[in-house]
Amino acid sequence: MSNLYDLGALEAHRGINQGDFTAEEYVWSIIERIERVEGKVHAFITLNKENALNDAREIDKKIRTKEDAGSLAGVTVGIKDNISTHGLKTTCASKMLENYVPPYDATVVERLKNHGAIVIGKLNLDEFGMGSTTEYSRYGPTHNPWNLDYVPGGSSGGSGAAVSSRECAISLGSDTGGSVRCPASFCSVVGLKPTYGSVSRFGLISYANSLEQIGPICRTVEDVVTVMNAISGHDPNDNTCFLLRSNVPYLHIKKDTAPSSIAIVKELIDGCDPAVSRTIYSALDKFKEFGWESTEISLKSVNYALPSYYTIAMAEASSNLARYDNIRYGFSLPVEGFEWNTYISNVRSNFGEEVKRRILIGSYVLSSGYYSKYYLKARQLRSLLRQELLSNFGKYDLLVGPTMPVLPFRIGEKIDDPLKMYLMDVDTVLANLAGIPAISIPAGHSNGLPIGLQLMAGPFQEQKLIDAASLLENAIDIARSPEI
Ligand code: GLN
Repeated sequence: MSNLYDLGALEAHRGINQGDFTAEEYVWSIIERIERVEGKVHAFITLNKENALNDAREIDKKIRTKEDAGSLAGVTVGIKDNISTHGLKTTCASKMLENYVPPYDATVVERLKNHGAIVIGKLNLDEFGMGSTTEYSRYGPTHNPWNLDYVPGGSSGGSGAAVSSRECAISLGSDTGGSVRCPASFCSVVGLKPTYGSVSRFGLISYANSLEQIGPICRTVEDVVTVMNAISGHDPNDNTCFLLRSNVPYLHIKKDTAPSSIAIVKELIDGCDPAVSRTIYSALDKFKEFGWESTEISLKSVNYALPSYYTIAMAEASSNLARYDNIRYGFSLPVEGFEWNTYISNVRSNFGEEVKRRILIGSYVLSSGYYSKYYLKARQLRSLLRQELLSNFGKYDLLVGPTMPVLPFRIGEKIDDPLKMYLMDVDTVLANLAGIPAISIPAGHSNGLPIGLQLMAGPFQEQKLIDAASLLENAIDIARSPEI
């Protein structure tokens, strides 16, 4: 048998259920793996070792007594550290929340636990989810398991790297403008951003709430399906979560997929790294071999996606982060000798530079006199973009392009140039602005560095993404496991 830590979620679950090994043996294997590689990868902020072992023993007891232990019984899951976990620190990789222990579980965490999954720890991210490399974490950067000198993508870089390096079977990330798909692409794993409103955000610490969704990062498409079936669906605690799907499970892997029509977005291919475009075109050839029709289209709205995204995201961030006033969160105030200047500078020193930049710009675009010039205009552009995307889904089943226009790069290479960082999100922000689902799937490597292909579908058409991703997963032959 291969190492237990190598098993995907469903494989681990089946092995535990059939009695091939116990959940405790499997969790020990994951813990040993973490001890071996975590010093190099740095994917975790907090480990949950003792609780995970106790949970594993509970699962083993249920299996021995033939109780239903759930569709993810025993499977190890890592949770991005901006998703609340009861009794387990949730820092958002920020000094502001360095000691925050939530008194409740996010709905997604509660649902995973109800399905028998075991939370193995909390994963690194860019502070409050703001970034694309995980370098803006208060706890230092995560390293890409495919090349430790390189970034793993972000902001859910810990979630991408931990799954890729076999430190957990599956993870959750949050995707405001690409944060599930970017690390999935850079770490050669599968990441899905669901339709806005299909997964509860209750317990997700908000960065830009009109854009973000929680999504799974896994090594196989089949595992993505299993996680989505467990976490999605209506939640009375989140009124942006749609009343849909009374019939669970709603996604599945089909044996045969009928050909579909795909449109390649010219603007997303033009201007990306040549190694990336070569890989995307050769992946598209695979679809054609299966009889899929592909057409090249032009999407004008791509040109204003980034200004619209960053204006809206920063405006919402400035409002969402206003609650961190150092009274309810952060330092405690000195009762004697209170001084305003010290108080203000303490608030400031609790946030990193990138977060402060965004709060300032966000407050500016919302301020009287500039509101209609910037924020309102950004909202109008967002509507245009959504209309253009949706009109194309009347003609094609899927839109396709690279997930990221560039290959993973060295840690530190772009850290001093925020604009360069923002530009990398050009392919991913479209799905967030339009509220549609999108998936990143490994498509190849260049010089050992992973390249992901992105597929987008109309609202609630996740099944189409799964069909295409599963077809590509079986059709391409690439290295799946980094040598670490
Ligand atoms: N890189 C984007 C940003 O910094 C997306 C982040 C995310 O999806 N959380 O806003």
